[in-house]
Amino acid sequence: MLKKPFAFFLIAVICPFFWGKNPSPTPTKEPINIILMIGDGMGLSQITAGMIANHNELNLERFRHIGLIKTFSSNDLITDSAAGATAFACGKKTHNAYVGLDAYKRPMTTILELAHERELSTGLIATSYIQHATPASFFAHQPNRYMYEEITEDILAGTVDIAIGGGRKFFDQREDGRNLIDSLAAHGYEVFNGLSKAKKQAESSRVVVLAKKEHLPQVTEGRGRFLAKAADFATGKLKQNNKGFFLMIEGSQIDFGGHSNNKDYIVNEVKDFDYTIGKVLDFAEADGNTLVIVTADHETGGFAIEGGDIDTGEVYGDFTSGKHTATMVPVFAYGPGAEEFTGIYENTEIFTKMINAFGFDLNEAP
Ligand SMILES: [Zn+2]
Repeated sequence: MLKKPFAFFLIAVICPFFWGKNPSPTPTKEPINIILMIGDGMGLSQITAGMIANHNELNLERFRHIGLIKTFSSNDLITDSAAGATAFACGKKTHNAYVGLDAYKRPMTTILELAHERELSTGLIATSYIQHATPASFFAHQPNRYMYEEITEDILAGTVDIAIGGGRKFFDQREDGRNLIDSLAAHGYEVFNGLSKAKKQAESSRVVVLAKKEHLPQVTEGRGRFLAKAADFATGKLKQNNKGFFLMIEGSQIDFGGHSNNKDYIVNEVKDFDYTIGKVLDFAEADGNTLVIVTADHETGGFAIEGGDIDTGEVYGDFTSGKHTATMVPVFAYGPGAEEFTGIYENTEIFTKMINAFGFDLNEAP
């Protein structure tokens, strides 16, 4: 009788000859969903301040795989949101202010576009203009983040299935006099100017919600749970595609609080973003096949916590800057492939890790 190890050895050596050229065919992976959540300007101090103000707990504590990213851009130690988001969306460092272009101004294909080409569904949610630098870097290709009218036109390429945010004025109060809301409709989108209306009336899988002419208001000035409700609406639509989806959700205004050196603004926006993270994690846990990544493009304000009280939730802080800083920012991951997001690495690797999680082969036509 053959001894067990020898039998295994024989099987391992001989079987590949019978299987032919592919002794170990790659197992077919089930399609997964990716939800990338970007807290704009959300460094560790911003997160900590939100945690202190929230009775010493955050939904972020539910994550087990945590890393740090280096945020610098191709031309500056301190990135802006355009280069930061383009690094996530396209996998290359670029010049500050460039949207979806490399450092030589050549267009790069974004992860959202790659997903669209492979017939996955796609979505973008922001509490700023939907054309603001972070969401724009996933669908637009422009040499300046402030070219809002041109960025708005790039939505008509049709790669985004669900878009929810502000910035309606760049559709219907344009300097060129065109009405791009009509163009969206002509391209097969249902367009709404409020989330609750969209929830009641949207019938198709391609929906644009332009909830405000400008940015959405602050969470404490009437925005309420818009972000979590938008995430719920978007995931409800996107999950109907059995090939999977890519969704980016931005907590846009943590950065605004940092720029204005307003500690309460930061704390309230972090708490709202974290509330949304909790809802998204609930979705991912129930779904079982969704990778959730939470990170930031950079820190804003050089914010530091100088005191406070865990019992009362008070936080005292100060700022070194009205701009962004170069400190590393954290990455939190949950779901299939989450273990790949631990360690210290470049912001561009977020793209690579997401591509690998999706199982996209970039050398092969979709
Ligand atoms: Zn900023």
